[in-house]
Amino acid sequence: MPRVGKQLLAEQVPDRRRDHAYRHLTVVVATLLLPLAALVTRGGRVRERACEWAFRVRYPFEDLSGLTPGTRAAFIAARYSALWHDAQLIGLTSGHRMYAEQREMFDEALRRHGSVSAARHWVLPPEESSHVSGRALDIRPTEGARWLEHHGDRFGLYRTYDNEWWHFEYWPDFRGTGRQPPRRPTPGH
Ligand SMILES: [Zn+2]
Repeated sequence: MPRVGKQLLAEQVPDRRRDHAYRHLTVVVATLLLPLAALVTRGGRVRERACEWAFRVRYPFEDLSGLTPGTRAAFIAARYSALWHDAQLIGLTSGHRMYAEQREMFDEALRRHGSVSAARHWVLPPEESSHVSGRALDIRPTEGARWLEHHGDRFGLYRTYDNEWWHFEYWPDFRGTGRQPPRRPTPGH
């Protein structure tokens, strides 16, 4: 096997094993939390509550603030369905970003890639970013993103760039229509 292939495998296999372990661990945690959730939850939302707690354990630093109410609700419904029906995890690495934060990211990309058009390949300026408007979700791990790519239509969540497997956006008008919002090669093209 060529060296590069070996290196790739060495890097990917433990990750996949780790993701797999976390997946099952999170389902176990959510299941164990069900009786406690039943004690403190009224109105039959026990599994929602247990799911929410289990994700707080798995991703303690996750920040859902600043998302539009629709985006947030779609994300929570999607991760509920992924966890309880398919034992898949959907985590959020980046949701809403402040204008200044996106500006900084874009300026950094400008410095690194040398031109606006090259920078836009990777990051959009704040005026155009769906992260700034609170409709974008960067998802992990890869298996969770793959799940969302297959099932996101039920929640109005769609992958919108070929070069970003992790980036999803909330487009409620397309939900359940069988159509998809435009998918572009990169953010700026
Ligand atoms: Zn993104």
